Amino acid sequence: MWRSSHVSGGNVHYVEALYEQYLADPESVPDEWRSYFDQLPRPEGSPSHDVPLSPVRDQFYQLGRENRPGRVVAAADSGENKKQVKVLQLINAYRFRGHQKANIDPLGLRNPTPVPDLDLSFHQLSKADLDTEFQTGSFFLGIDKAPLRDIVDALERTYCRSIGCEIMHIVDTEEKRWLQRRFESVRSAPEFSADVRKHVLERLTAAEGLENYLASKYPGTKRFGLEGGETFVPMMDELIQRAGGYGTKEVVIGMAHRGRLNLLVNILGKNPTDLIDEFDGKKVIERGSGDVKYHQGFSSNVMSPGGEVHLAMSFNPSHLEIVAPVVVGSVRARQDRRNDEEGNKVLPINVHGDAAFAGQGVVMETFQMSQTRAYKTGGTVHIVINNQVGFTTSHPLDARSTEYCTDIAKMVQAPIFHVNGDDPDAVLHATQVALDYRQQFKKDVVIDLVCYRRRGHNEADEPSGTQPMMYAKIKDHPSSRSLYVKRLVEEGVISEESAKAMIETYRNDLVEGNHVANALVQEPNESLFVDWTPYLGHEWSGNADTTFDMKRLQQLAARMCEVPDGVEVQRQVAKIYEDRRKMQAGGLALNWGFAETLAYATLLEQGHPIRITGQDVGRGTFSHRHAVVHNQKDGSTYVPLQNMADGQPRFTIHDSILSEEAVLAFEYGYSTTAPKDLVIWEAQFGDFFNGAQVVVDQFISSGETKWGRVCGLTMLLPHGYEGQGPEHSSARLERFLQMCAEHNMQVCVPTTPAQIYHLLRRQVIRPLRKPLVVMTPKSLLRHKEAVSSLEDLAHGKFHMVIADQAELAPAKVTRVVLCAGKVYYDLAAWRADNERHDTAILRLEQLYPFPKEELLEALKDYTNVDDIVWCQEEPLNQGAWYSSQHHMRTVADMLKDGLGRDLKFAGRPASAAPAAGYMSVHTEQQRQLVEDAFNL
Ligand code: AMP
Repeated sequence: MWRSSHVSGGNVHYVEALYEQYLADPESVPDEWRSYFDQLPRPEGSPSHDVPLSPVRDQFYQLGRENRPGRVVAAADSGENKKQVKVLQLINAYRFRGHQKANIDPLGLRNPTPVPDLDLSFHQLSKADLDTEFQTGSFFLGIDKAPLRDIVDALERTYCRSIGCEIMHIVDTEEKRWLQRRFESVRSAPEFSADVRKHVLERLTAAEGLENYLASKYPGTKRFGLEGGETFVPMMDELIQRAGGYGTKEVVIGMAHRGRLNLLVNILGKNPTDLIDEFDGKKVIERGSGDVKYHQGFSSNVMSPGGEVHLAMSFNPSHLEIVAPVVVGSVRARQDRRNDEEGNKVLPINVHGDAAFAGQGVVMETFQMSQTRAYKTGGTVHIVINNQVGFTTSHPLDARSTEYCTDIAKMVQAPIFHVNGDDPDAVLHATQVALDYRQQFKKDVVIDLVCYRRRGHNEADEPSGTQPMMYAKIKDHPSSRSLYVKRLVEEGVISEESAKAMIETYRNDLVEGNHVANALVQEPNESLFVDWTPYLGHEWSGNADTTFDMKRLQQLAARMCEVPDGVEVQRQVAKIYEDRRKMQAGGLALNWGFAETLAYATLLEQGHPIRITGQDVGRGTFSHRHAVVHNQKDGSTYVPLQNMADGQPRFTIHDSILSEEAVLAFEYGYSTTAPKDLVIWEAQFGDFFNGAQVVVDQFISSGETKWGRVCGLTMLLPHGYEGQGPEHSSARLERFLQMCAEHNMQVCVPTTPAQIYHLLRRQVIRPLRKPLVVMTPKSLLRHKEAVSSLEDLAHGKFHMVIADQAELAPAKVTRVVLCAGKVYYDLAAWRADNERHDTAILRLEQLYPFPKEELLEALKDYTNVDDIVWCQEEPLNQGAWYSSQHHMRTVADMLKDGLGRDLKFAGRPASAAPAAGYMSVHTEQQRQLVEDAFNL
C-alpha cells in the first residue's frame, strides 16, 4: 500500500487528515487504513495518540516529490472518500466535544461555548450531504453504513442531550471503546421498564417528601436540604442495589452536608423519629460533645439482588472534602479484612459539592492515591451534587478556573458524566454505566449531577440577594419530581392519581415514624461488619501486660534478621542487619530500630495485622528501619516481617505519596475500621503533619467525643532540637497538648528502645483504642546511651515516667529536673561532667494523659527538694510548658510535706519560629538551657 498511489502526490492532504483521524482514535478509520497506519514508524513505546505527525507527514511528501512528472495518479481522493474522512472526523468531534453542547443544566443558565467542530460546515460537509450514506467507522450505531442525517441524529442524541460525556481523555483504547459502546449503542437513553421508572419516581417522591415535611415542620431550621437535587436519592438507590447485584457486601459513603439527612432517612433507613428528635435538639448520646445532625454518620444493612449489603455513612466535619480519603481508608481496611484485593466486595462512594470538589486540594491528593499500592481500593464512585452556586454566594467565575468543577478528575483519566438532574432516566443510565465501569476497570469514575439549590445555602439564607438571576429562574422552575411525573403520565407509564398517592403514602409513613428506606433489613446480618464491643467502654489506663516470652522473643528476633540467599543487600543495610543479628545474640546492646522491629514481630505473632505508611517509611527517614530490603541485583524487594510464619497476619508497609493531608485522613479511616490492627502513619519530619492539621483537629483529637468513634491510630513524628533549623526540629508538640482533654489521645516521648517497643505493643495489646502521638527521635536512633537489653523487652513495660538512673542519695537531692525526650541525655551528660549529685532528673515519657500518680511515686523519696525545674528544648511558648505546667504544679503541691514548691522553666526564650536557623545559635541555646536546668 505504501507504494500505491493512495499515499502519494495529490493525496497527501487526504491521507494526512485520515492519519490525524487515526491518531485521535485508531478505531475510527477503516480497517485497511488502520493496518497500514499501524505499520508506520513511531517513537518507541509511545501510544498512537502521541506520535508526532511530522515524520510521517514528511514521508508522505517525500513520496509525493518522488512522483515523476507525467505519472498517472489514481483519483483515490475522490470527493466521496474525502467526505468519508470528514464524517469520521465529525463523529470524533461529537465524542470529544458533544458534552459542551449537551443539555445538562436544568435551569438552562449555562452559556455553552460555541462548538464549531460540531457544525457540518466545519468539516466541509453540508446539508446536501445529509442523504448520502457513509461508513460509521467505530461509531456504535448498529450498522456499518448510514445516511449522514441518521449519523448526525444519533450523535446529537448520544452526546448532546441530558448526558455530557467526557471520556476522550482516556488513553486506554479498551476503556474508551467500552464507554463509547455503552452510550452510543443506546443513544444515551436506554428504554427502562415501567416498573423501573415507577420505582425511580417513588424514590424521587421520598426525596421531595422528606424535604417538604421538614420544611413545614421546622421552617427556617438549618438542614441543608436537597431541594433541586432530589434525583440524587434514586441515583444512590440504584448505585447500592446494583453494587449489591455485583456481590458487593459493604458500601462506605462520604457525604456532603446537602442532602445528607435525606440520604440518611431515605436510603440508609435512619428512623425518621430519631431525626425529628435531633431537630428538637434532644441529646442523643450519653457521653461526649455530640455533633450537629448534618455531620452524623450512620450504619445499616439493606437487601439487594445479590443479598444483604452493609452501608456505612462516615461521620464528617464541616471541612467538606476531607472525608473523602477517610472513606477510602475505611474501604481499604474492609477490603483487607476480607482479603478482597480486587476491590469487588467493598465499594467507596464519595459525594461532593461542586465548589469543594473544584476548590480543595485534598481532592487531588485523593485521586493521586487511587491507583497506588498503599491506597487503591478498586475505584471510587464520585458523585458531585452540582448546584452550580458553591457555598453561600459564590459565582462560577469566582469558584474555579477550570471549565467544569470536575476537571481535576481527568488527571487520573476518570470518565466524567455530566448529567441533567431533571432527567431521572438519564441519571439512572449514567449511574449504571459509572458503576459498571468501576467494576470492570477498577478505577475512579465521576458523575456530575447538575442540579440547582432551590433554597439558600441553608434554610436561613436568602439567596436572591446574591444570585438574583438564578433565583428568579428557580422560582418558576418545577421540581424534578413534577417534571418526571408529567413525562411518565404523558408516556402512559403512570396516572396522575397514582403519582399523587405516592406522596400520601410517604407522608403517612413519616408521620407514623415508620422506616422509609424501602430495602432496609430490620435484623441485620452482623457478620458483615466488625464487632467493636471488645474495644468499647474502657476507661483510660496506661497499663498493659506487654511482656513476652524470652525464648520466643529471641527466635522472632533471629527470624526478623534473616534475608534469603539470592537477595543481595546493600552495604550499609547489610551492616544494620548484621548488627541486629549481634543484638539478637546478646553481643550488642539493642538500638531503636531493633526494638521497634521486634515490637512488630511480636505483635504479628500475637495476631495483630500491622500497617505502616508515610514518607520513606520502608527505610525510615533516618535510615534506622530498613524494613524493606532492596535486592541490589534486580531491584526486587524482600520484607522480613512479611515472612515470619505461615499464615501470619498482614504486615503492610508502603512509602506514601508525598501528601500528608489525604494520607493521614486515609489512615484515620483505616484505623477507625480495623480495631485489631496496629496502624501507623509516620511523618518524614514531625512538623510535616501540619499539612494534615485538619485531620488532627477534626478527626483524631475529637472524633470520639463528637461521634463516639474510637480510633487507635499511631502517629510517629520525628522531633528534637539538633540544629537543623526551624522546619526540621519540632513536631509542634504544643499543638497536640493544647488539644488534649478528656483522655482523647496519648502524647508520648519515649527515650529508649525498650520504651518504643512497649509503647507500640501497649497500643494494641490493651483493648482500649486511643490515638497515639509519638515524638520520635532522630539522633537518639544511634545514641550510645539510648540502648536497651532483651531483658527490658521481655520483662519490662512502658514507663510513663522514668525515675532517675543515677545512684544519688535521695536525701541530698535539692532539685528535681523534669524533662521529656532527647534533652534528658544532654542533662545527664552535663550532670556527670559537673558532678552535681544534688539534682535528680526524671523523664516524663508520656505527657498526656499526664501520669500524675507515676510522677508522685518517682518523687516520693526526694524529701529535701527545694525546687522543681521543667526543662525543655523548645522555646518558652512551645513544647509542653504552657499546656502541661498545671499538671506539674499539681504534683509539686501534692508532695507529702504539703509545701508548695516553685516550678521553674529552663528552655529557649519565646520564639516565633520553632528553632534557630544557625547551628551556632542552636548550640549556644542548647548549652544555656541545660545549664539553666541546674543553676537557675
Ligand atoms: P460500620 O461498619 O462502620 O458501619 O460499623 C458498624 C458498627 O460498628 C457501627 O454501627 C458502630 O456501632 C461500630 N463501630 C464502627 N466503627 C467504630 C469505631 N471506630 N468506634 C466505635 N464503634 C465503631
